[in-house]
Amino acid sequence: METLLTYAIGGMICLFFLMGYLKSLKKKEARARAAAEKGKLFSEGPKAQHPHIDSNYCIGCGTCTSVCPEGDVLAMIAGKAVIVNGHKCIGHGLCADACPVGAITMVMASPSMAADMPHLTPEFETTVPNLFIVGELGGLALIKNAVNQGRDCVDTIAARVNANGAAQPIAGVYDVLVIGAGPAGISASLRAIERKLNYLTLERDEVGGTVAKYPRQKLVMTSPVEFPMYGKFKKLQLSKENLLAFWDMILNRSDFNVSTGEKVEDIKRGEDRMFTVVTATNQYRAKAVILALGRAGEPRKLGVKGEELPKVMYRLIEADHYINKKILVVGGGDSAVEAAMGLACQAGNQVTVSYRSEQFSRIKERNAKRIEDFMRSGKLKVLFSSNPVQFKPESVILDVNGSSQEIPNDFVWIFAGGTPPNAFLKKIGVGFGARDLTLEASKEAKKADAERKQLAQAAAAPSR
Ligand SMILES: Cc1cc2nc3c(=O)[nH]c(=O)nc-3n(C[C@H](O)[C@H](O)[C@H](O)COP(=O)(O)OP(=O)(O)OC[C@H]3O[C@@H](n4cnc5c(N)ncnc54)[C@H](O)[C@@H]3O)c2cc1C
Repeated sequence: METLLTYAIGGMICLFFLMGYLKSLKKKEARARAAAEKGKLFSEGPKAQHPHIDSNYCIGCGTCTSVCPEGDVLAMIAGKAVIVNGHKCIGHGLCADACPVGAITMVMASPSMAADMPHLTPEFETTVPNLFIVGELGGLALIKNAVNQGRDCVDTIAARVNANGAAQPIAGVYDVLVIGAGPAGISASLRAIERKLNYLTLERDEVGGTVAKYPRQKLVMTSPVEFPMYGKFKKLQLSKENLLAFWDMILNRSDFNVSTGEKVEDIKRGEDRMFTVVTATNQYRAKAVILALGRAGEPRKLGVKGEELPKVMYRLIEADHYINKKILVVGGGDSAVEAAMGLACQAGNQVTVSYRSEQFSRIKERNAKRIEDFMRSGKLKVLFSSNPVQFKPESVILDVNGSSQEIPNDFVWIFAGGTPPNAFLKKIGVGFGARDLTLEASKEAKKADAERKQLAQAAAAPSR
């Protein structure tokens, strides 16, 4: 009798825990379904490389969902892993590494996205001979990929330059111009130094690219990578500030030849096969050009009256430079709410967020909770279903739910995303898509193809 009672109590305890577990699973699944619904609303899916989950093999262990550094890209629905927030995926691939049954493989963006990508050879060459694209602009995200591509691309260029007689430099012509000083451009520049090429790097903004624009103290996840002028870089996690300091150290030591604050506006290739790279203040000539522009592109403008006023900005680096100000932040993504909260924490600031939707739906869980607290405590105000109508020197006019409101204002920040530099690439003749048929059919393309083959053959031949 006693044994039976013990079994019964044991059984009830197990049942209690089982019920608790099933209840938490149900809750998790409900959250995942909600995230999947929200994700669909504003996401065209992953923009670059992303996981492909084979549901036939997925055993539903959920390991992949817990290792993603970006949070809720993956979730468990009906016992299988699924992508619920594809737009947040930047292709770390930790989910694929962690899957115990190999049900996840990393794949490139969907064909519809690929059609919007420049056509590149395995050597990262575009449809224009000796014009290369490396890093995220070519469709592959992550710092390690940018570093690898920048480095390998310069090896191709060095082989060609040497095959064509590096001993006879042409006055006023660089061996290679590197455009952009993010991870891809930095790596390409350092490899150019290693390969003793005559190079110059042009950067419209500051050295560091997208990394320099991450929020303060953001933890950067990376993989071991062979860094030119340094060797194996083995750190797997470090703060943005530490990564920038590491690059700074190598660049200083290597005598990095960079011109910052110089935006490239046009690139032309002459009959002599030399490039002319045009910026607002200079023109440069080069045998080869590497575009390491990233995909952030230009900040998207709203087209609102008064947007050209100097008080209207698109990027916030140091919130603590602004105190006792009346501020409007436009947007509802992570960048907008993080900037708004940062500004609201500075003494005397009155911050209003204008967001066109009825609620925040595309932000990280952590940001959603924090901004909720800020709103509740009156640290900042959010005007949902609102749009700016006009920016004036001392105020802004907003349309809030159909009625007009004018509020006093000193500064405006707009976070409406960016447009990748596709129009610029098309202007300079770069073909798009897996196979750009318009371009392939043209005589120009056939000529370019023949020239590329000739360049590759010359580079492969043993040097004299
Ligand atoms: C919020 C966020 C978090 C991320 N976290 C990670 C992470 O933890 N780990 C990771 O591996 N990756 C991460 N990534 C992705 C990673 O930052 C990018 O894949 C990487 O920076 C791409 O490097 P890039 O050199 O190709 O381009 P970018 O870093 O974008 O650099 C491009 C540079 O080109 C310059 N430029 C553009 N146009 C011109 C022009 N016309 N003339 C002159 N210069 C120009 C730009 O000013 C910029 O400096 C993250 C991305 C984001 C947005």
